[in-house]
Amino acid sequence: MTKPRYLTKSRFKMATECPTKLFYTGKKEYPNTMLDDPFLAALADGGHQVGELAKQYYPNGFDITTLDYDEAEKQTLDLLALDEVVIFEPAIRFNNLFIRVDVLVKKGNHFELIEVKAKSYSSQKDKDFLNTKGNVSSKWRAYIFDVAFQKHVLKSAFPKSTVSSYLMLVDKSATCETDGLNQKFVLAKDEHNRKGVTVSSSLNAEDLTNKLLTKINVDKVVELVYRKELQTGMPAYSFKDNITALANYYQEDKKIAPVIKKKCKTCEFQCSVADEENGKLSGFKSCWKEQLHWSDADFNNKTVLDIWNFRGADKCIEQGVIKLVDVEPEHIGEVENKNTTLAPKERQWLQVEKEQNKDTSIYFDSDSMRNEMASWTYPLHFIDFETSAVAIPFYKGMSPYEGIAFQFSHHIAHADGRVEHAGEFLNTAKGEFPNFEFVRALKAQLENDQGTIFMYSPHENSYLNIIYRQLSNSNELDKNELCEFIKTITRSTNSSKENWHGDRCMVDMLELVKKYYYDPATNGSNSIKYVLPVILNSSKYLQEKYSKSIYGSEGVIDSINSLNFKEKVWIEFDEQGKVKDPYKHLPKMFTDITDHDVELLSEGDELNNGGLALTAYARLQFTHMSDYEREELKKALLCYCETDTVAMVFLYEAWREMINL
Ligand code: SF4
Repeated sequence: MTKPRYLTKSRFKMATECPTKLFYTGKKEYPNTMLDDPFLAALADGGHQVGELAKQYYPNGFDITTLDYDEAEKQTLDLLALDEVVIFEPAIRFNNLFIRVDVLVKKGNHFELIEVKAKSYSSQKDKDFLNTKGNVSSKWRAYIFDVAFQKHVLKSAFPKSTVSSYLMLVDKSATCETDGLNQKFVLAKDEHNRKGVTVSSSLNAEDLTNKLLTKINVDKVVELVYRKELQTGMPAYSFKDNITALANYYQEDKKIAPVIKKKCKTCEFQCSVADEENGKLSGFKSCWKEQLHWSDADFNNKTVLDIWNFRGADKCIEQGVIKLVDVEPEHIGEVENKNTTLAPKERQWLQVEKEQNKDTSIYFDSDSMRNEMASWTYPLHFIDFETSAVAIPFYKGMSPYEGIAFQFSHHIAHADGRVEHAGEFLNTAKGEFPNFEFVRALKAQLENDQGTIFMYSPHENSYLNIIYRQLSNSNELDKNELCEFIKTITRSTNSSKENWHGDRCMVDMLELVKKYYYDPATNGSNSIKYVLPVILNSSKYLQEKYSKSIYGSEGVIDSINSLNFKEKVWIEFDEQGKVKDPYKHLPKMFTDITDHDVELLSEGDELNNGGLALTAYARLQFTHMSDYEREELKKALLCYCETDTVAMVFLYEAWREMINL
C-alpha cells in the first residue's frame, strides 16, 4: 500500500520557504543538505530538552508515541472521547492535511492548541510578534505560520469546537529555582533513531515552580495571517487557500513552478559533485534550468548569489542579471568609501571584476597591513573560543540559554618568528558551568605580557561580555579581578549597561581580512574554514615551512610545540597539486555519523563556525557515553580548536611574508 501523501507541519513550513521544495522533499533522487541523523539534528539544535520540560507542566497528559499515522489517529480519537484530556503529540487529520500537535488540551468543546518551541521570548521586545508596520515580524513568521496551519487543520477536523492557539516559548527573563535541572533531561535514541528524552526520577515540584517556559496566546496574530496574502510564488492568494492548494500539489506530486531568488542560495536541495556523479539530481539546478533555460555548462559561471554579503541579488535576478559577467557597477551601488580601506561595496565589486577579468591574483593592501602590524605588540596571542547556549540552566539563579564557554585554544607568535601552542582549556564535565574557570585560565595565559590579542570574528568579545555579566551577578571571590581583566581585553557590546574599550582590546582578524585581503579562490567567503585552505595554497612560504614535520616536534630547527599533535605535517597535496584542506584531515569528532553530516556540521559562515564543537558539547552533556568515547571526543575537540588558532597564525605568517617583514 502506498503511503498517503499528507501535508504535515514540516512540509508546510518548507513550502512557506519555497513551495517548489514540496516536489523534491522525501525523494531519494534529490539529496538535501539537512542532517541525515535526527538524533544529531536534535543535539545540534540545542533545544531538545524544552519539549520534554513542557510536558512536565501537564502531569496528567497522555503521550502518543507511535509514528504510524492510522494508529496515532485512532489513539487520539479514543482519548478525545473524554470530556477533559491533555494529549501530547495527538494526530489530527483533515482530508490530506495531517498534524501532530505538541500539546492539546481539551475542555469540553474547547481546545487549547500549544506549539512548543525552544526559542527565547522577551515580553518587552517581542510583545505580540508584530513589526512596526503591523505585519508579523520576520523573526516569528515561521512559528506563527506553523500555529496558524495547525489551528486551521484542527478547526477543520472539529468544526463545532472552539480553538485557542498558543506558542510555548523559553522565557529568557525567568530564573531557575534549583541546581542541576539541565542534567535531569538526558537525550537518548528511541527505537526509531529519533530523539527521546529521559526525565530523571529526581525531577521534583520545586524544579518546576518557576516556569522557564511561557505560554502566549497567538490568536490575534494568527487571524492577521489568515487575512493576508501568503507570499509571491504561492499557488493561491489567502493563507487558508494556499494550505489547500499546497496539500493538493503535494498529494498529486505536482511541482509548483519555481521562482528563483536569493533564497535559492540556502536551498537544501543542492547536490554535491560526487552525488551528481552517482546519478543524484540537484533540485537547485532543476529550478534554475526551468526558469532560466540554462544548460549544465551555465552552472560553471559564478552568479550574483556568490557575491559576498550582497543584498541586491533579488533585484539583479529580477532584471535578468544572474551571472557575474553581466554585473555592472550600478548593480552593486555607489561606493561611499572615502577611507583607504576596502569598503564592503568595493570588495563586492572587486570580486565581480576579478571574475569578469578571469583574474585569480590576490588583492592585498600591503601598506595598510604594514601600518596595522606596526601597531601590534609582541608576543602576539591568537585565541579561539568554543561555546554553546544551553536552554535549561545548570544552576539555581541562572536563566535559560546562558552562554557557555567550554573551550579555548591559544597560540603565541614571537617577534623573532617562533610560534608556540601556548595553552588551552576544555571543560565538558557533566552539569558543570565552565565559564568562571574558563576566564581564570584565559587570564592566567594572557596576563603575563602586554602582547596584542587576536580573535577571528567578534564572537570572543561577545562571550567575554557575557561572562562579565555572569560574574557581576555571581558571588565568586575573585569576580572583581576577573571583570577588570575582561575589560582590559574587550569592548562593551550594545547590550551592556556599562561602556568600556580596553587598552588591550582584541584585534579582529576577520575585519583585517575584509579590509585588506581578498583571494578569489575563497569565492567571497571570509570564514576561517575557507580562508585557511586558500592561504595554504597561495603562500609558498607556508608551504615550505609546514610541509616539514616541525609542528608538534622537538629538537629540530623551527620546531613548534603542540599540545595535541605530534610531528604534524600541515601541507599535503592532492592529485591536482592542491593543498589538502587541513580541517578535512583532523581526527573524526564522531565516528558514528555520515560524512555528509560531518560536512554539514563543519560548515560555517563568518560568525558561526562551531557547529561540530557545540554538538560535541551537547553530546558530552546530555547523552550517555562510555568513558572511552568521552575521552576520544575530548581529544578530537582539542585538535579542532588548536587548528582554529594555528590557522590564525598561518594567516598572520603569510601576511607578514607578503609585506616582507
Ligand atoms: S532552488 Fe530556489 S526555487 Fe528551487 S526549490 Fe530551492 S529555493 Fe525553491
